[in-house]
Amino acid sequence: MIVDPTPRELRRIFDEIRAERARQDERFGEQNHPDGTGGREWENAATMARANCDLATVAGELTWRDIAYEEDAEALAESDPVKLRAELIQAAAVKVAWIEHLDRRALAARCQRCKGQKIVPDFTNWDTDHAEPLPKPCPDCQGGDGG
Ligand SMILES: [Zn+2]
Repeated sequence: MIVDPTPRELRRIFDEIRAERARQDERFGEQNHPDGTGGREWENAATMARANCDLATVAGELTWRDIAYEEDAEALAESDPVKLRAELIQAAAVKVAWIEHLDRRALAARCQRCKGQKIVPDFTNWDTDHAEPLPKPCPDCQGGDGG
């Protein structure tokens, strides 16, 4: 039996990417374009983007935009196909890491009491036919305080 060591959260993102790739192929067919990368303009952009990342890091203000732009600029500055491929992998991996962080934040933002379900069991109000508590709005996140 082969065990996939990829964490479930990461696997879900890869599944979404795979599905999006299938939609792209379905819509546009196999794509074969010139790279159009390289050149002084993008080399300068990559240099500026790296400097911006360094400054933002020192200032404690580094954002995903800064990181993603740096990786994109480095890819767009690269004309050697082997190096371009390596840069595109790095740029894609940063996008995946960004998505992972968005998902972690969404999870953390969920109410701890109801886990985002917005309802909790009301143990003072039972469904006697099914011998279970009826649901009530979660007091932590539906109490009208916007929390
Ligand atoms: Zn709640």
